[in-house]
Amino acid sequence: MQVRVDRAVCQVLAQCVFTAPDVFELDGDDALVYLAEPPEEFRDDVEQAARACPLQAIILE
Ligand code: SF4
Repeated sequence: MQVRVDRAVCQVLAQCVFTAPDVFELDGDDALVYLAEPPEEFRDDVEQAARACPLQAIILE
């Protein structure tokens, strides 16, 4: 599974961080960082995060 966040769209609302904290997090500067190739065990969380993102900025490939 590959995850990409469209940074032109993302406004760091952090919904994904709450939904899939193993994959998405905020760094010390409140910038979004994430695993681009998370382990398969996190697929459900990532799919839920993609649905939860208010801006639909999370793209699964
Ligand atoms: S929920 Fe969407 S807009 Fe918010 S930080 Fe995550 S990807 Fe960005």
